[in-house]
Amino acid sequence: MGPPEGLSGARLRCLAGGAASFPPIEFVSRVPADVSAAAEAFVRINDTRIDVVTSSPLFTRLQRVADRCGDLTAARKLASVLVHEELHVRHAADEAAAYAAQLTTLASLGAGPGSPLYSEVHRSMMYTLSRPRAKLERIMVVR
Ligand SMILES: [Zn+2]
Repeated sequence: MGPPEGLSGARLRCLAGGAASFPPIEFVSRVPADVSAAAEAFVRINDTRIDVVTSSPLFTRLQRVADRCGDLTAARKLASVLVHEELHVRHAADEAAAYAAQLTTLASLGAGPGSPLYSEVHRSMMYTLSRPRAKLERIMVVR
C-alpha cells in the first residue's frame, strides 16, 4: 500500500536521521502471519527494505497527531525502530547490535535511561534476546 497521509517514507527517513542512503520503507496495513503480532516494523532476512506496520498502536498514534504538534514520544519511538531495522538491513546486525543502536538513538533524542520509552525498548530487547535463536533467524522484528 502507499504511504498514509502525512507519513511518507521520506518523512520517516527524516525522523530516523535523514540519510539519503536510508533503506526504502514500505507500508503494510497488516502484520503477516509469520511475524509477531506486536511488530511495529520488520525486515525480512536478505531483504533491503523496511516494512512499517500501519495498524500498530505506535503508528496509528503517530498518524493521529501528524497534523498537530506531533507526539514526541511516538516520533522518537518510530525513529528508533527505523534505526534498529536499518542496522539489520544495512549492516546485517544481530538483535543485540540493533537494539544497542536503537537505545543509543533514543538517548540522543532525549529519551535516555530512566525514561519510560527507553525502559520499554530495553524490556523488548531483553525479551527478544531471551528467545531461542531459531526463532530469530527467520525474521527480525522490532516491538
Ligand atoms: Zn531486530
